[in-house]
Amino acid sequence: MPHVNPDAQLPPRDGGAELSAAGGATAQLRINEIFFSLQGETSRIGLPTVFIRLTGCPLRCTYCDTTYAFAGGRNLGIADILRHVAEYAPRYVTVTGGEPLAQKNCLPLLCALCDEGYVVSLETSGALDIGEVDARVMRVMDIKTPASGEAGKNRWENLPLLNMHDEIKFVLCDESDYRWAKQILLQHRLNDKCAVALSPAHGMLDATQLAEWILRDRLPVRMLLQLHKLLWNDAPGH
Ligand code: SF4
Repeated sequence: MPHVNPDAQLPPRDGGAELSAAGGATAQLRINEIFFSLQGETSRIGLPTVFIRLTGCPLRCTYCDTTYAFAGGRNLGIADILRHVAEYAPRYVTVTGGEPLAQKNCLPLLCALCDEGYVVSLETSGALDIGEVDARVMRVMDIKTPASGEAGKNRWENLPLLNMHDEIKFVLCDESDYRWAKQILLQHRLNDKCAVALSPAHGMLDATQLAEWILRDRLPVRMLLQLHKLLWNDAPGH
C-alpha cells in the first residue's frame, strides 16, 4: 500500500474538538491515513476505492511495505471517518492497515460503512479472529508464509469461517514459499472455500517466474501484482 502523509489526508489538527464531538467518545479509531486510489489487489483490482488505513500491527513481516503504519496517526470517531469517505463519493471502500482487527472499533466501523451503502472489504493478516466481521464485508485474508517470518501467527481457526464472498492471499518471497503455499492450498482445499491469490513479494520474487510455476502446476489461483506499485511506484497519495 502506498505511503501518504496522514496530515495531508486528514482534517487539520485545529478541527479536533469538533471532530471528537461528532465521532463520540466510545467509537474512536487510530487512523493512519485515508486516501482515494485504485484498488491494487484482490478481485476488485483497478476499481476506484477509498482506503482507510488503521494504525498498528502485531506482526512484523519481512517484506512489510507499511511500517509507517505501525505507529502514529490520529484518533477519529466513526462519524468523522464516514464524513471523510463521503467526500470522495466512492462505491468501494477498503479498511486496511497495519492490522485493522487489532483495534476493536474496527468492527463497528465496518458495520457503519456497510450501512452507508458502500461495497466494503477488509484486508487482514489472518492472525486475528475474523468471525465477528460484518457478513456484508469481503474479508481478504493473508496466509503468512515461512519467509514472511510470521507463519507462526496464522490463525488456522479462521479457515472454516471463510466463504465464497471472501478471498485468501499468499505473498511469496521465494520458491520455498511457493511450494509451501501450494501444499496449504491442496491440503485445506482452499479453492472450495473462496478465491485464492498468489502475489510475489515486491523486489524479492520474480513475477514471471511465479507465473510459470503457477502454469506448470496448473494451480487454480489468481496471480496478482500490486497495481498501485506498477502505476505509482509507492508515490504518496496512491
Ligand atoms: S501484517 Fe501487513 S502491516 Fe503487519 S507487518 Fe505484515 S505486511 Fe506489515
